[in-house]
Amino acid sequence: MSDWHKLKLVKILVSWQCFGCILHKFDKLKWQAILKNTTVRLCQMELLLMLCFSSPVRCAEFAIPFQTNTCPTCRLELPTDDEAYEAQRKYKIVVVCNSGLTTGASRESILEKCLPYAPASSVHMVPGRQFCFIQFADKEAAQQVMQALDGVDGQNGEPPLYLAYAERALITDLLSAEEEELILGQLHWPADGSMKHRQVLHFGYEFDYGTNNVDPSRPLAGGLPGWVELLVTRLMDGGHLVERPDQMTVNHYLPGQGIPAHVDTHSAFTDQLVSISLGSDTTMEFCRPPPHGATVAVRLPRRSALVMDGEARYLWTHCIVPRHSDITLTSDGELTLTRRGTRVSLTLRRLRRDVCRCRFPQQCDSQQQRRAEEKRSNGETGITEQLERTYVANVYEQIADHFSCTRHKPWPRVERFVRGLPPGSVLLDVGCGNGKYLGLNPHTFEVGVDQSSRLCSIGGGRGHQTVTAGCLPLPVRSAACDAVICIAVLHHLATRERRVAALAEIGRALRAGGRALIYVWALEQRQGTRAAGYLKPGRQQRVTETETAAGADTAELPLPVHTNRTEFKQQDMLVPWKLRPGGRGGGGGGEEVHHRFYHVYRSGELEEDVKIAGGLSVLESYHDQGNWCVMLQKDEDVA
Ligand SMILES: [Zn+2]
Ligand SMILES: [Zn+2]
Repeated sequence: MSDWHKLKLVKILVSWQCFGCILHKFDKLKWQAILKNTTVRLCQMELLLMLCFSSPVRCAEFAIPFQTNTCPTCRLELPTDDEAYEAQRKYKIVVVCNSGLTTGASRESILEKCLPYAPASSVHMVPGRQFCFIQFADKEAAQQVMQALDGVDGQNGEPPLYLAYAERALITDLLSAEEEELILGQLHWPADGSMKHRQVLHFGYEFDYGTNNVDPSRPLAGGLPGWVELLVTRLMDGGHLVERPDQMTVNHYLPGQGIPAHVDTHSAFTDQLVSISLGSDTTMEFCRPPPHGATVAVRLPRRSALVMDGEARYLWTHCIVPRHSDITLTSDGELTLTRRGTRVSLTLRRLRRDVCRCRFPQQCDSQQQRRAEEKRSNGETGITEQLERTYVANVYEQIADHFSCTRHKPWPRVERFVRGLPPGSVLLDVGCGNGKYLGLNPHTFEVGVDQSSRLCSIGGGRGHQTVTAGCLPLPVRSAACDAVICIAVLHHLATRERRVAALAEIGRALRAGGRALIYVWALEQRQGTRAAGYLKPGRQQRVTETETAAGADTAELPLPVHTNRTEFKQQDMLVPWKLRPGGRGGGGGGEEVHHRFYHVYRSGELEEDVKIAGGLSVLESYHDQGNWCVMLQKDEDVA
């Protein structure tokens, strides 16, 4: 296997799944061998980092501004590669991913490595970690070192350093003790304020704790106080803040008071939130929700500013536990207890004037509201989803074992397509079922996607790489695949829009010039005089055909139930699957019938859908085993 192929494998797998999931599924040693033998820069270094840094305010002082997407298996956020690098060019801090105290690197050795390209202002080593941070005077210096050292073999055969940009999340000593005192003197707290809970002042706009939102049409008189400008200017000049805040909430905490865990409402404020601590240090706790839950306590010294953005702002909750003292580290690294004093926090935020489009839909009120509205205004979507869930997804989950027993012999022309792929091809099997088309060609990298987790685990148990996911959208990067097969899948989608969208998704997954083979069930089960194997001679469609299936499960749908092994009389229908609890043919009696939704394609329909989807050309189209089939090629990019 060439290095290029190894890199491709690594890149693609890393983009699909998080490191933890890959290690879980792959032989760990084999994986490590791949990494060791690959000399090109690898994006999994960033991933390792993500996992090492389980904090949004990594090691309390630095944050790595990854742009991430989601692991389809465990929903962990993953970094994308190239775009993220572009976006990070503005940073002055570089993290050395594979060199730190635990790998035998010293501050001096790191400084020495940078010196020929740009002098570093400081190096920050992290106890017990295999990475460290280098700060430069400006972004140009950081860029020079990045270009000179990142992924480049060292002298005397030393391994290369792998670098990534980072930014500072906690800015200590933002203001002087005199300025702090001055500001505290400017704040006027209502005399009758209850001392039981923390006291609050609002500037710019009132924050409504009932709705957890602000009304942008009702600015408060006076705006932000003049002294806020000074702090904002410092943060912006230092490159920590992108936009000027227009709202400030001031909280007054007595020792023993805190604030419950929350994520600041997405629709109310933009990306960056600033929290400035005055009067006393405190400890803020950050929590990432399951499945990769984590809690990280971050010490906020007085006169410091904490900037939360990206994942730390949108996904992690933050809180201050109501306590009188916190466990802290002394300067010589020992644990001790520190009593809290009275703390005043300034929270600076900017009102959002559009809707939030963050990458965390679960936490996002903007996106949840939009989805709810879509559902209301478009009842169709709801019915379509329900139909596919009830008559496709749920059924396959229930019949998976029996279904798998009946599916072992690959169709010859599909097998020929897979076997004919050039060595090193990346093949995606959309709707892979039990994986009967995986493993036919030992020279390809294959991943199967199926929405039935039961079928995926049957395939996984046979040694195939499978991902439980639907086909809208596909869990892959754009242009990641050399070939896609999608056999007997699209006919389970309930509307033409969705069938076309699924073809477009396959096109997105393919690289330019990449090929796809698509099979869908045909309305026409006869070609000339030949009947497909599905038809049973002499069997007639029963008279009950136009009635709906008995039982409550289909009562609300006016869909006909098809009589198995007869000719199709319509395109949309429910097709029964008979499941005998005692196994295949055994037991006798107690037969369960499950109905699967099918849309059988008439001649020419699949080609029409391909045309609507766009970007794909039909190389070949034919009738095979009662299916309409097309071989597609993704068009070259037209610049
Ligand atoms: Zn908050
Ligand atoms: Zn959001």
